[in-house]
Amino acid sequence: ILGIIAPSFPAFLDELHCKYKNLGDGAIADYIPELSKVNPDLFSICVATVDGEVYQVGDFNRLFTIQSMSKVFAYGLALEDHGRDYVLTRVGVEPTGDAFNAIILDEQSKRPYNPMVNAGAIATTSLIKGKGATERLNRMLDMYRRYVGKDVYVDMSVFTSERSTGHRNRAMAHLMLNFGMIDGHIEEALDLYFQQCAVMVSCRDLAVMAAALANKGVNPITGEQAVDSRYVKDILSVMYTCGMYNFAGEWAYKIGIPAKSGVSGGIIAVVPGKMGIAVFSPLLDSRGNSVRGVKVCEELSQKFGLHMFDCR
Ligand code: GLN
Repeated sequence: ILGIIAPSFPAFLDELHCKYKNLGDGAIADYIPELSKVNPDLFSICVATVDGEVYQVGDFNRLFTIQSMSKVFAYGLALEDHGRDYVLTRVGVEPTGDAFNAIILDEQSKRPYNPMVNAGAIATTSLIKGKGATERLNRMLDMYRRYVGKDVYVDMSVFTSERSTGHRNRAMAHLMLNFGMIDGHIEEALDLYFQQCAVMVSCRDLAVMAAALANKGVNPITGEQAVDSRYVKDILSVMYTCGMYNFAGEWAYKIGIPAKSGVSGGIIAVVPGKMGIAVFSPLLDSRGNSVRGVKVCEELSQKFGLHMFDCR
């Protein structure tokens, strides 16, 4: 791993964990009732390098639902299924500056703005190919398996909790159906979207998934191609410009690496050619990003010069 990770890296992860473990700012997401049951103290930081080393601290094996971090991976699958040009006709690549759950489409094209906010993610998921709901779900789960290196499953209570309360997402789906951005069967598309969000992963799994994106789409532990390398730049570009919702600009400016957060409290970040970073801590700020997660990534970026445009 020489040259990829500074020797002080593992010790610095411990230091960061210690420094922020008592930071109690933020709130747990409770608009999906099942999510509100999580222990707010959980906290883990993991880094996986492109040569398969994993550094981890805290509750790194604890499972939680992937939520919006799934959008990154589903976008890759939709690109593989349809190619860049077609996907672009259904989902844009423009940051919104609005909240992740804003009910808003591009005035002119009627497309959702980008695949990292809910509307765009639902449209993206509706593009996943398969004969019927089961085949589509299985293709999604198989995609996750390639990234994680083992089978994953959908947490039924989080899935049903979101399905029975997710009327805002349902409203977006109807709006997109109205404009022809989703074809038919919106309940099926929504189910697959809620299932994709309710897949259980650990912080360690997320670091490996992010490392695959840092590694030309190849899982650095199993050596399996998780996503066609052609689409890695598409994925990382939208993560960079849109992954942190209405904090994306400030994140790009300050931290400077492609990233994606989710309301369960995870953040994944990708340092191309080097490593995947994952932080899990369920307390969220007003934009829905993990408070400790943002702090940890900011410190890691500064300390090790990870900002993409840092030329010190
Ligand atoms: N499943 C969640 C939703 O659609 C995901 C949102 C998020 O993680 N920001 O509302």
